[in-house]
Amino acid sequence: MAITAIKGFNDILSSESSRWHYIEQSARRVFELNGFGEIRVPIMEKTDLFCRSIGDATDIVEKEMYSFTDKGENSVTLRPEGTAGVMRAFIEHKLYAQDPVNKLYYLGPMFRYERPQKGRYRQFHQIGAEITGVSDPLADAQVLNMLVHFFREIGLDEPVLQVNSLGCPDCRPAYRTALCEFLEKRHESLCADCKRRLSTNPLRTLDCKVPGCVEATAGAPSVLDHLCGECEQHFESVRNYLAISATPYTINSRMVRGLDYYTRTTFEMVTGLLGSQSAVAAGGRYDGLISQLGGPTLPGIGFAIGLERVALLLGQRDFLGTPDLFIATMGSVERDTAFRLMDGLLKSGVRVEIDYEGKSLKSQMRRADKLKVRYSVVLGENEVNSGKAIFKRMSDGAIVESALVVEEVVKTLMH
Ligand code: ATP
Ligand code: MG
Repeated sequence: MAITAIKGFNDILSSESSRWHYIEQSARRVFELNGFGEIRVPIMEKTDLFCRSIGDATDIVEKEMYSFTDKGENSVTLRPEGTAGVMRAFIEHKLYAQDPVNKLYYLGPMFRYERPQKGRYRQFHQIGAEITGVSDPLADAQVLNMLVHFFREIGLDEPVLQVNSLGCPDCRPAYRTALCEFLEKRHESLCADCKRRLSTNPLRTLDCKVPGCVEATAGAPSVLDHLCGECEQHFESVRNYLAISATPYTINSRMVRGLDYYTRTTFEMVTGLLGSQSAVAAGGRYDGLISQLGGPTLPGIGFAIGLERVALLLGQRDFLGTPDLFIATMGSVERDTAFRLMDGLLKSGVRVEIDYEGKSLKSQMRRADKLKVRYSVVLGENEVNSGKAIFKRMSDGAIVESALVVEEVVKTLMH
């Protein structure tokens, strides 16, 4: 039996990759415009890095990581997200030494052992961006605007931006207590996971998709009513900047993120078109993360976009375009001329397709139609002898005679 790929690991075929290039190039353009530079970090790190950053009591660390022991008896993990590795590199290379403000972006595969379904895979791809060293709310607003700009750039009005603030280590404990008191009274209505979360990570109950939990937490206290003065002011200021840039968003006080390092501003780009895989991009502030990983006390903020989900939203559009010319040949003698012409045109940047198999003229023209070429030309004995041929525009059947000289053909194809 033939070997198949691992469950939840996808091939991205050449029919899809032009869409991926379009997404990636748009992100690079928008991020670089904002002064972000690409950082490439390994896809595997020491397991400890993720336990210490994402948090032991999160779904990711508890059950989703691809961790194993390598031949040197080290526990290693395929990265489940990008921020931890980027911050590890930031600290290791002292990128803060010259200037604490660094604007970095990354893209590549991430790995989580989840139940595969549409928009949820075990290997998936993220494009992410991070700013270190700025606690000013202006950075929050710039990052949010950059994310919204990216989605506009690729032509998606959906998804929409939702923002929240999760407070800081000063104010979160009081909120946690208030939430726990509320949840204790509804203990029986919660699912088994949430019952466990009550002691480990009660905020996660707000993100549970089990209907009983959604109902039980409907009237839960809002994190926004429990922010300390400084966090409240910070959030107010973020909103003020978003108003200045006329960025559309809604506040979702139930939004909690699945990683423990988030503080203050958190956000998601949400769609109604992908079922429960509704978050297309997500992120937030992580003001304690860098010091927690042994680096200096510097704040940070960032996000990650889920590439597969963006590709699903873009649908089956073809981003590759179609060939400029199909060269059909009548017999083997003409193939030298055809090959010489194709070679010259390719070197001039013209996209040319040719018949490879010596098929009948009829089947060659069928292939030209299927490829949606702009022009076609048939080379027979007459054309080779006279050095001239008839070029047919496929959209309307218009014909032009042209010498079989690269410069002339290029001119003909421009019409
Ligand atoms: P979800 O709530 O859908 O599980 P998440 O909160 O776990 O998402 P993050 O860790 O914030 O997601 O990752 C950022 C983005 O990466 C998500 O918004 C989503 O678009 C994408 N993503 C996360 N997990 C997967 C996955 N298993 N397969 C495909 N894309 C994913
Ligand atoms: Mg998840």
